[in-house]
Amino acid sequence: MPRNRTIQYAIDNETNLILSRVGSEVMFPIINFGGMNPSNNYNVGYTLEKDSVYQTIGMNLTWTRKIPTVLKNEHRRAWGMKELKQEKCPVCESENIRADFDFPKTMRCCKQCGSDFLSDGEVVLNARKIK
Ligand SMILES: [Zn+2]
Repeated sequence: MPRNRTIQYAIDNETNLILSRVGSEVMFPIINFGGMNPSNNYNVGYTLEKDSVYQTIGMNLTWTRKIPTVLKNEHRRAWGMKELKQEKCPVCESENIRADFDFPKTMRCCKQCGSDFLSDGEVVLNARKIK
């Protein structure tokens, strides 16, 4: 399994549920209507199931990074990826980080290893892969 696979997220504008894509596969939230019951306040539950990206043809999707980390982690677990940790260097795990000067809201720089990453933990520049 390759490391550092890129994961993309989309909002399904019909259901407001989150999909994620890795390569040619997409993780779809499959609504579990049978799971609606008084104990969960009739909230619709879902399970994540992998299928071809071609299944998204005709869907009304908005691709975005602005997904809460907790939801990203649901998808990352489904893909077998490491979960995101916020405000920690995803490369060396150091908490010795600072906000990027140019993009302080979204970009972080690790003072320990020199990697750059987004505030949601996605690595932009892995300093350990540069020799
Ligand atoms: Zn680091």
